[in-house]
Amino acid sequence: MPVRPPPVTYTCPNCNWSKTVAPCSDALLPHEFFTACPVCQHTPLNTAPARYIDVKLLNLMESLKRL
Ligand SMILES: [Zn+2]
Repeated sequence: MPVRPPPVTYTCPNCNWSKTVAPCSDALLPHEFFTACPVCQHTPLNTAPARYIDVKLLNLMESLKRL
């Protein structure tokens, strides 16, 4: 069984952009990995383990997308 990477929240300290990503496998897709802010191109981004509520929201949104 591959280990599922823990969800991570990226935050831009410059413009407050943030995104939580929960990779579906150990192979990161481009939209699941950020090295620079997509809004203002600021680097580096702050990263932190995603909060439980963010993960729940993310899972909910992904469930809705499948409907
Ligand atoms: Zn930014």
